[in-house]
Amino acid sequence: MADPLQFVDEALRELAERSLLRANVSIDSPQGPQVERGGRTLVNLTSNDYLSLAADPRVRRAAADAAERHGAGAGASRLLGGDLPIHRELEVAVAEFKGTEAAMVFPSGYHANTGIIPALVGEGDAVFSDELNHASIIDGCRLSHAERVVYRHADPGDLEGRLRRTRARRKLIVTDSLFSMDGDLAPLPEICDVAERHGALVMVDEAHATGLYGEGAGLCTEQGVAERVQVQMGTFGKALGSSGAYVAGEARLIRFLVGRCRSYVFTTALAPPACGAALEAIRIVRSPEGQALRARLRSHAALFESDLERAGTRPIAAGSHLFAVIVGEPDAAMRASERLEANGLFVRAVRPPTVPPGTSRLRASVCAGHSIEQLRRAAAAIGAVALEAEPEPPRRKVGA
Ligand SMILES: *Cc1c(COP(=O)(O)O)cnc(C)c1O
Repeated sequence: MADPLQFVDEALRELAERSLLRANVSIDSPQGPQVERGGRTLVNLTSNDYLSLAADPRVRRAAADAAERHGAGAGASRLLGGDLPIHRELEVAVAEFKGTEAAMVFPSGYHANTGIIPALVGEGDAVFSDELNHASIIDGCRLSHAERVVYRHADPGDLEGRLRRTRARRKLIVTDSLFSMDGDLAPLPEICDVAERHGALVMVDEAHATGLYGEGAGLCTEQGVAERVQVQMGTFGKALGSSGAYVAGEARLIRFLVGRCRSYVFTTALAPPACGAALEAIRIVRSPEGQALRARLRSHAALFESDLERAGTRPIAAGSHLFAVIVGEPDAAMRASERLEANGLFVRAVRPPTVPPGTSRLRASVCAGHSIEQLRRAAAAIGAVALEAEPEPPRRKVGA
């Protein structure tokens, strides 16, 4: 009898040959600036826990308290009896934090993007998406059945040319605010200018910027465009050290989305411990301590960048705490990552399809909880392995 899973063996073999096999990368401790892995303590440069709040004792306690008061799980979707007081409390806190009329929360950023975009546009409409947008945005665009128009990365001129040529009824522009693979920022004021000239909606994904820019509220606030962006989305799973996501905007928009996002209607509500942790993290991020954490992260990032350059590499660095050192091919990137781990550093290789072919890279994120000594050691070691890997010039391709 033929083996119906034979295609799985073939796919696994082929991916392994091309160094593109993906598997879980395990740690044996809580998330933090250093982690336990394989019986060793490694300096951790893989984490999105940028303010080192995931293991903060106050955030942990808030999660435990929320479980005590509200239960481990919500028990149902928000529309069918799973709407608990802590969800409403979190939504009020998010709206206040973001300076919007209202907010709603999702179990994850993936849920948010795959729910919001199809709720806003459909057949006969068009969605304009930056070529380096996160996969959850790409999937949201695909699910929407709107015409998908991919514009050149962070290029308002290219975006405007494409908007000029469309005949779509409704137009939505969607972009990350901080791009996680290159660490650069979207030109939000110019994107809003273009949107206003063409009557388009703007949606910004602040997953990597929430907690860090604009006093924590995000890059829309930092760049002064919060009032011009109709849909401000972000997550609790990165700098806020928890889990889940939000969208903030006008009350009428939120009322509309509550009933229209399939990924909101047809899923169990965000778990109470995640809500409790997010509430506490927002409180910390908005306090003077949050300001101090952001200042520390900024000075850490500046030091790391100058040390990488001193070590002879040219990181893709665009003024954030995220660094990419292009190595070229997937196997070279994997070998570089293994050598760093042997040196006590946890730095992952990022390969296609997450990044374009030929741009496999080492990605390092600096966190507030790192020590200066840890960062200096990491930058020197990354510089040394990257130089040996002899990177090819990056090739980029438009298309999602
Ligand atoms: C991580 C991320 C998401 C997904 O958020 P999760 O809460 O992890 O599902 C969405 N958008 C961007 C830009 C991200 O970086």
